[in-house]
Amino acid sequence: MMKIFSLVFVSAGLLLPSLETLAKECGFNITGNDQLQFDKKEIRVPKDCDTIKVTVINVGKMPLMVMGHNWVLTKSADWNAVAAELGKAIPPSAKYIPKDKRVIAATSFVGGSPGEPKEASVTIKRKSLKESESYHFFCSFPGHFAVMNGAFVLEK
Ligand code: ZN
Repeated sequence: MMKIFSLVFVSAGLLLPSLETLAKECGFNITGNDQLQFDKKEIRVPKDCDTIKVTVINVGKMPLMVMGHNWVLTKSADWNAVAAELGKAIPPSAKYIPKDKRVIAATSFVGGSPGEPKEASVTIKRKSLKESESYHFFCSFPGHFAVMNGAFVLEK
């Protein structure tokens, strides 16, 4: 009996750390406020993050229709054109997620009024990105991207 228990214990002990290593998730929070500001101009992803979860949080008080924020990721080469394109999508809603082919990841919009979603997340597999590529994030609410944007850096 003792032998069986210790065998189970040993194999569980061997398995758990390797599973954890296989799927390390790194979370990043970014807030947007009523002054058109993200609290980060850059997100740096450590090399050992297999899964990257980005959560955008609206810390403002203004309604989504007026001052909504989302988080959209594209290649740096694409971001300006995509941001301008997505900025035409009016009115933004809590359910809207940009569908442009050049969009790598995007959250829905978050608002500041009571009852509106304050947080939205998106998960990205690191292996779907390239270290040699340059990435950029922005808010696609009409008119926001010029100020609300930043670099998304995969650390090597
Ligand atoms: Zn915004």
